[in-house]
Amino acid sequence: MDVRIQQPCPQCGGPVVLSESDRLLTCSYCGVRNFLRSHGLFRYVLPAGNSREMVHAPYLRFKGTIFLVREKAIEHHLVDTTQAAVFHPDLPPSLGLRPQAMQLVRLSAGQGGSFLRPTIRASAVLDKAARLSTLMRRRDEVLFHRAYIGETISCIYLPMVRREQGLYDAVRDRLLLSGERLAEAGFRERPFSPRWQVDFLPTLCPHCGWTLDGEGDCLVLTCSNCDRAWLVDNTGLQPVSWQKVAGDRRTRLYIGFWRITARIQALAMETFADFIARTNQPLLIRPQWHRRPMSFWIPAFRVRPRLFLRLGRQATIGQHRMRPEQARACPELYPVTLPPTEARQAIKVILAASAASPKPIFPALPRVRPDRLSFSLVYLPFISTGQEWQQPHTGMVINKRVLGFGRHL
Ligand SMILES: [Zn+2]
Ligand SMILES: [Zn+2]
Repeated sequence: MDVRIQQPCPQCGGPVVLSESDRLLTCSYCGVRNFLRSHGLFRYVLPAGNSREMVHAPYLRFKGTIFLVREKAIEHHLVDTTQAAVFHPDLPPSLGLRPQAMQLVRLSAGQGGSFLRPTIRASAVLDKAARLSTLMRRRDEVLFHRAYIGETISCIYLPMVRREQGLYDAVRDRLLLSGERLAEAGFRERPFSPRWQVDFLPTLCPHCGWTLDGEGDCLVLTCSNCDRAWLVDNTGLQPVSWQKVAGDRRTRLYIGFWRITARIQALAMETFADFIARTNQPLLIRPQWHRRPMSFWIPAFRVRPRLFLRLGRQATIGQHRMRPEQARACPELYPVTLPPTEARQAIKVILAASAASPKPIFPALPRVRPDRLSFSLVYLPFISTGQEWQQPHTGMVINKRVLGFGRHL
């Protein structure tokens, strides 16, 4: 479920409500478009006003998919959880449904009070989220690989207020720690850090100054003047190498895949021919495949895990049928909503999903360390056939409803 965030327009102060995956803010009052830049996680507070007596407890929110490669199959599970990053038995271990039930406020310098320092590492919080999902209950089963493909990792603060009797949950007005327990708790507090704030940057092409194209949750913006593409990340706009496989007059949509060229030494896999051989594809290896570097083609958009695996496998195995060429901006580009950092986490999962049988690949995964990585974004043409989007080169099929739904996962 999506979390909503109140965000005043940086230009006119008009109230704007964003979803947590939105990086672009378009103000309906003054029309200004900006994108949000943060120096780390996005940080929010449950709304409860603010005062100098406030103490804020950090919770980590993870929304995404956990993939588990077991002995014979790949399991996956959607996870949407907000877990405490400070351990104390009197603090709620999770925020439960509270972040979804109320509009969050983006953390800003105006938020008074202090902030508890996290005592649990982010990776431990993720592990706990994995254990809580039903998948991890069978402890005796073999697990060759676990990957988190995150759509959102953010920090949400629970506001608490210090009173004479102790520390209160400021949202529910309920005593959490009595004065005595609070004195013993040994919480370490710190003031607000300016690094936690977001900046607002204009959506202008860094190369030519033209207004960039792209909507709310879009992570790659294109320039219709100079045909460059830019990735929105924590530092600003980064140039992205991008290409397009030519469509024809039937093409109605171009959908992006991150093409990650990589070498996998543990499997002696450097070329596409190596990949076809190691994963036992029922394909006759052509001589030129020995010169074609191996790439993993990862869907560059949020989509249900089962479809994510199928599309990644089909694009990766069918890569020899595609001839990417220089791209030009056009209105038919489907938004990129999965960043390359998350696509990278999917390499081993897509490798496993591509294997014709688990045996030669799954047990090797713990030793697999993809290296010599290079990234580019390749848009593939899709034609419209009634209920489905169809990719002519690879036979990929995507139900139209599913694609619409994936954006609000
Ligand atoms: Zn405005
Ligand atoms: Zn430009």
